[in-house]
Amino acid sequence: MIYQAEQLSVTLLEDGIAELKYDAKGPVNKFDQATLQALTEAVKVLQTNSDIKGLIQTSGKGAFIVGADITEFLDLFKLPDAELLGWLEQANAVFNAIEDLPYPTISAVNGHALGGGCEAILATDFRVADTTARIGLPETKLGIMPGFGGTVRLPRLIGADNAVEWITAGKDYKAPAALKFGTVDAVVAPEILRDAALSMVKDAIAGKLDWQSRRAQKQAPLGLNKIEATMSFSTALGMVYAKAGKHYPAPTAAVKAVEAAARMDRTGALGVEAATFIKLAKTDAAQALVGLFLSDQALKAGAKKAAKAGKATNKAAVLGAGIMGGGIAYQSAVKGTPVIMKDINDAALDLGMATASGLLTTQLKRGRIDGTKLAKVISSITPTLSYNSVDEADIIVEAVVENPKIKAAVLAELEDNVSADTVITSNTSTIPINVLAKSLKRPEQFCGMHFFNPVHKMPLVEIIRGEKSSDETIATTVAYAAKMGKTPIVVNDCPGFFVNRVLFPYFFGFSKLIADGADFVAVDKVMEKQFGWPMGPAYLLDVVGIDTGHHAAAVMADGFPERMAKTGKDSIDVMFDATRYGQKNGVGFYSYAKDRRGRIQKTPDAKSYELLAEVASEKADFTKDEIIARCMIPMINEVVRCLEEGIVATPGDADMALIYGIGFPPFRGGVFRYLDTMGLDKYIKLADSFADLGPLYQVTDGLRQRAADGKTFY
Ligand code: NAD
Repeated sequence: MIYQAEQLSVTLLEDGIAELKYDAKGPVNKFDQATLQALTEAVKVLQTNSDIKGLIQTSGKGAFIVGADITEFLDLFKLPDAELLGWLEQANAVFNAIEDLPYPTISAVNGHALGGGCEAILATDFRVADTTARIGLPETKLGIMPGFGGTVRLPRLIGADNAVEWITAGKDYKAPAALKFGTVDAVVAPEILRDAALSMVKDAIAGKLDWQSRRAQKQAPLGLNKIEATMSFSTALGMVYAKAGKHYPAPTAAVKAVEAAARMDRTGALGVEAATFIKLAKTDAAQALVGLFLSDQALKAGAKKAAKAGKATNKAAVLGAGIMGGGIAYQSAVKGTPVIMKDINDAALDLGMATASGLLTTQLKRGRIDGTKLAKVISSITPTLSYNSVDEADIIVEAVVENPKIKAAVLAELEDNVSADTVITSNTSTIPINVLAKSLKRPEQFCGMHFFNPVHKMPLVEIIRGEKSSDETIATTVAYAAKMGKTPIVVNDCPGFFVNRVLFPYFFGFSKLIADGADFVAVDKVMEKQFGWPMGPAYLLDVVGIDTGHHAAAVMADGFPERMAKTGKDSIDVMFDATRYGQKNGVGFYSYAKDRRGRIQKTPDAKSYELLAEVASEKADFTKDEIIARCMIPMINEVVRCLEEGIVATPGDADMALIYGIGFPPFRGGVFRYLDTMGLDKYIKLADSFADLGPLYQVTDGLRQRAADGKTFY
């Protein structure tokens, strides 16, 4: 051993080959500041030890290096530009030093080599990967871009077009794809990875592999003439901008940086990269996206803890084979938990099975699963009309019609047919869990498990803790939701739970705007294009279903009459009364028809305006800012109330639920990050200027106090 630190070591092997091995004390190797410091010292040894003739870079873990330590990012990004540059320059100096070593260098890549891990392997002359390798530069997904030479070395290695694809998509590539692109030079079986790297480095030392020309290629300007460069980069920029949009500046900034540095040497190109990185690190989008990543990690850690505290689900059951029950059964089965699907209606069971097999066939056509997997998943869903086998399930999701009496009867009957330790959950969207719990003898074994439609696509599951739900019940349910590939967020019981409780004030804000003469198409456009929602409120109501929305609005009005009681007929009532239920029956605020490619398209419908005239005053114009404020303030205030009342545990949980449950724009980071970014004083002033619109626009005392104390949420 010629160098040893907590994160890595250097050993001199036989034949003058040095092995730089990343093997940190924790479960994974990551590029945190301590690792960078250790690598800086290790490289000095590599530079000065005259016995070394070649280097292999390896990992002692199941993955090479998973990336930078993202928990350090938010603090790092707050540093003054010069200090941030110092951090980037230290990393660049160490990777340059590896690239400049006076002998051939090879990385042996296993598992993930992402971000800084990918940039570490780009510094060596060659890369050999094993079949477990997954390589990529995910930085643009976090609102930044590679900062340790990724935008400089990758384009020079695999070509500008390919590198732009890697950098802007931010995804990771499996070993065969990486080989095809030329990011790695060979792919081998895991058990021979190290030997393959050793044999390559020996070949390079013996002059059988031209490592010097490989190295020169990575350090030279890109081999594109001016016309080629213009063509290539302007096409890429157009495509990337069309996909990322104006709210996500990182992908386009990365393309521009690669372009600006195309004719530069390594030093110049790294300078462009660092300058762009620093600009991006200071954007609100980077703060928001990094914050979300950290909140997501916290939720994943919580789910892991729950898996230990709760009971394992080896078999599940779902009652009701409708839209939701069928989706839940499919999701459970496809993620490896066999499921019994019970209904009272044979036709519903057939439909539930047909839904599952339709989803699986799509996966098969896309090459994501094979026939064997399809057959295995289908055979793990057992349709039944009786309770006979339901007691084999460790957990049961009730998803029958949304009727309190039916649900109460079904839950009581179910409880009598299962063993004492079975966990029972309900997928109700509006009935309080504490109300449903009253029909059960073992309410401690019961909680809410609120999925979103369509189940296979929507990542969030709200786990609703009733007054009597036990910790073990919650843990078991959280663990099952995570096993289904979903993100569970635990909330306390209240009308609408968390997501619908905060969504409906937004709809009420929208309805009031319509009542005051706004055009629903204009409102949707502002909320989508300016604020960044995937759908504006009118469109979202149509997709959710006006009948569902109408019913839920009444539940919310009952639950929170002081803020949400109706003062008269509103736009949702108008659509409901005209049986315009939205996408499901082809007409709502918009009308819907399939285009030539079979995709449903919406068009504004003159009839809607005619009908809305009953509840709307003279057409009036509102500025974009007014539209955003009038829709968002009711939602924001309600989100704040939910935190103050303990409905959600943390700002991070609330923000993740908003993003995963209703598509709150990720670049804004959720309501709490949005408030922190805007500044609480500024928000309160804005909300107060709309206070005459009613109680939904009243800021809580808690928020005023927080602002007065100069506190933020994160
Ligand atoms: P659905 O009408 O499509 O399906 C309900 C199914 O329950 C039907 O197949 C019916 O035959 C069956 N059923 C009725 N009584 C039964 C009984 N005693 N035992 C077994 N099965 C019985 O309804 P859905 O949209 O799937 O909704 C189901 C639940 O999920 C409701 O509580 C709803 O509020 C909730 N939910 C719905 C959505 C959504 O967007 N559809 C979203 C979240 C939650």
